Amino acid sequence: MRRIVLASNNMAKLEELRALLAGLPFEIATQSEYGVPAAEETALTFVENAIIKARNAAENSGLPAIADDSGIEVDALDGAPGVYSARYAGAEATDASNNAKLLAALEGTPDDQRGARFVCVAVYMRHARDPMPRICAGTWPGRILNEPRGMYGFGYDPLFYVPTHHCASAELPPDIKNQISHRARALRQLARVLRRMPDA
Ligand code: IMP
Repeated sequence: MRRIVLASNNMAKLEELRALLAGLPFEIATQSEYGVPAAEETALTFVENAIIKARNAAENSGLPAIADDSGIEVDALDGAPGVYSARYAGAEATDASNNAKLLAALEGTPDDQRGARFVCVAVYMRHARDPMPRICAGTWPGRILNEPRGMYGFGYDPLFYVPTHHCASAELPPDIKNQISHRARALRQLARVLRRMPDA
C-alpha cells in the first residue's frame, strides 16, 4: 500500500477520493494527520493554487500529495470570482455574502448572458520538487439564477442552475451532485492517472 496525503481536511473530499480509488494500492491520509500547516493560496490560477497546496503537503509529510482547487467562473464578469470564489465578498466572506455580491454584480443581466461554470483542478505530485505534477481539470457548465434555490450543498450551489437536471445545484441530492460535479470529474480523471501508474 502506498500512502498519499490529501492536501485538505475536508472529510467529504477525503471520502469521495477514497471511494474513487477503492481497489487500488493507495491509502489516502489527510494532511492533519501529518500536522501540515495551511498553505497560502496566493496564485492567479486554479492550477498554481492546487500545486502550492500539494507541494506544501508533500514537503511537510514526506509523502506524495494530491490537492484540488476550485471555484466558479462567470462569463459576464470575465471569469470572476474565479480563484477568489471563497473570499469574493472580502476576507470575512460567508456563502451568503458571496452569493449576495454575485447577484448584485449580475443585476439586470438577462438569462442568456448569465453563463457560468464550476471549475476544479486536481493535481498529483510524487514529491515536493516534482517537476511534472499530474494535472486534471473538471468543469461543470450552467448559469447563475436570479435568486437562491435549494437547501443542499454549499458555496454558490443555490445560485447555480444545472441545465441537464433543470434545477439548482443546491436542489440536487449530494449523491447526484457528487457524480456529475466539477470535482467528481477532476477526481475521476486523477483516479485514472493513478490507476495507470500504481507504483507512482
Ligand atoms: P476550494 O478552494 O475548493 O475550497 O473552493 C473555493 C470556493 O469555490 C468555495 O469556497 C465555494 O465558494 C466555491 N465552490 C467550489 N466548489 C463548489 C461547489 O461544488 N459548490 C458551490 N460552491 C463551490
